[in-house]
Amino acid sequence: MRTWNWMTTAALLVAMSAAAQQAGGPQPSAQPAANDATQTAQPQASAPAPQPTQAPPPPVATPTTMDQVVNLFIEREHGLIKMLANRTPVVETYLQNLTADPQLGPVPSDDRYFLGRMDMGETADRTDYLKEQEKTMQNRLLGGFQKLYKVQYQPMGFSWMVYADRTDFDRAHYDFHYVRREFLGDVRCLVFDITPKKDAGRGRFLGRIWVEDQDFNIVRLNGTYSRAGRNTFFFHMDSWRLNLVPGYWVPSYIYSEEGDFSAGVKNRLAFKAQTRIWGYDLKKGGEADELTQIRVDSVKDESPTAQDASPLQAERVWQQQAEDNVIERLTGAGLVAPEGDVDRILQTVVNNLEVTNNIDLPRPVRTRVLLTAPLETFSVGNTIVISRGLVDVLPDEASLAAVLSHELAHNVLGHNLGSKYAFNDRMLFSDDSTYQNLGFKHIPEEEQAADKKAVDLLKNSPYAQKLDNVGLFLKMLQIRAGQLNALLTTHLGNPLAEAGAVNRLSALATQGPALDMNKLDQIAALPLGGRVKINPWDDKAEMVKTAPVAITSARDKMPFEVTPFFPRLARFGAGNQAPTAAPTNVASNTGN
Ligand SMILES: [Zn+2]
Repeated sequence: MRTWNWMTTAALLVAMSAAAQQAGGPQPSAQPAANDATQTAQPQASAPAPQPTQAPPPPVATPTTMDQVVNLFIEREHGLIKMLANRTPVVETYLQNLTADPQLGPVPSDDRYFLGRMDMGETADRTDYLKEQEKTMQNRLLGGFQKLYKVQYQPMGFSWMVYADRTDFDRAHYDFHYVRREFLGDVRCLVFDITPKKDAGRGRFLGRIWVEDQDFNIVRLNGTYSRAGRNTFFFHMDSWRLNLVPGYWVPSYIYSEEGDFSAGVKNRLAFKAQTRIWGYDLKKGGEADELTQIRVDSVKDESPTAQDASPLQAERVWQQQAEDNVIERLTGAGLVAPEGDVDRILQTVVNNLEVTNNIDLPRPVRTRVLLTAPLETFSVGNTIVISRGLVDVLPDEASLAAVLSHELAHNVLGHNLGSKYAFNDRMLFSDDSTYQNLGFKHIPEEEQAADKKAVDLLKNSPYAQKLDNVGLFLKMLQIRAGQLNALLTTHLGNPLAEAGAVNRLSALATQGPALDMNKLDQIAALPLGGRVKINPWDDKAEMVKTAPVAITSARDKMPFEVTPFFPRLARFGAGNQAPTAAPTNVASNTGN
């Protein structure tokens, strides 16, 4: 008999309320330590320990002069380029164009979304996950840009900012000036300013780098590329790397921002963009690889005595097979995180809804995290999938319960989708055509039925008294829906809003007080990136642990907005990683 998990819920409330920002005023007291509960139900890895996928480089002799340090980090940069040459990570860029709002400052006016696999080899290439139709749209949108600013999206858009200079990072092309020592997170760094030599040519890095003082890898680059031509334009970027494999710091986050909103400036271009890179440890997405990668799962007979399957049992096993196929395929494509920490939090919320509504489904409901930013949920069989972006922006546990309850309702109502994926041939496609080959959109009648049922479930649940917050979230979403088309464009499930109008859980949209941006204790939606962090090497998702920061003005709220990255840097094996772990399971530990 399942019961409410008070302990985990208490910890969850902390995790869900204190994340990216918090209203000023009294803080909740006597918070239980989030760590205690989140470690109780660590999923056991049943697979054999994976082999390290990357051997560390040989240790370096301690340099005695800054000149030697420069030589070392130049050498390590070339080593990194070589190490990553056969990798094809997933690259996601989410960009918000900005317009000035007298009250809120720069706010999104519209947005763009790019998702693809990047070939880190010499020939820079980006295969695109987005559908043909969307690509054409993208090209059209970028067409205008490309005329004005030739270089920025070619060849790889924002993702080319992973290196200072892919081909000519050396003393012949650059001058290096030591600035000072500085800590980034737990890592002591040497800071250098880099300027291209006079005749070094166009598109050279100009800015500052941070080099960790143990192996002398670059861990952060901040600057731009210089000597733009008449019709070219280079973005400014802040590019961060994480020590996810011994001896190497892999490019993980890039923040870009352009625009000047001071008086008298005529904005040619104003935007903020986040680029995230993950899936370094994924198999290459080639056709031949696909065939060896796909495992045809046999259906296991778990009954103690040999029994024939009844027609209903056969139907359930069939659906389970489809569900397993899809989740495995999406994980293999780098779109769904392996089972982990965040799933336990999601499952606790689903469990709370189930227990209080006396829901007893034949198979347990599972949850998984879609690694992408666009706000979406969908289910396949009994697995509910929710995107990282959506978990990020939800203000509290009740809002999380609300979006999960819609998918749980589909389940309870038997709206099963995707049984056709029990045929394994339907899993044989290249990673970049995932969105063309999989889809879990319900018909409008099922959507309405699920929303209705979801509200019933919520009203019977521990979240019944907190539905005002859900109402506020939906109101905030409605205010921004017209400007955030790309963030609200779903790729696998039904959208939360269409044509600028929120249609999910509309019965709750009028719930709660009026939305007031000037009320600093009213947090309707959070910025992106405040809750879930992804390990770029093995795709594991975990909750971000941040200290509350008091909001001091309406501009601090930044609902659904893009903000700079400031990851807390740590060395591999220190703090947030298991000291003896192989690179493929570095994120198996919680804590940071
Ligand atoms: Zn639905």
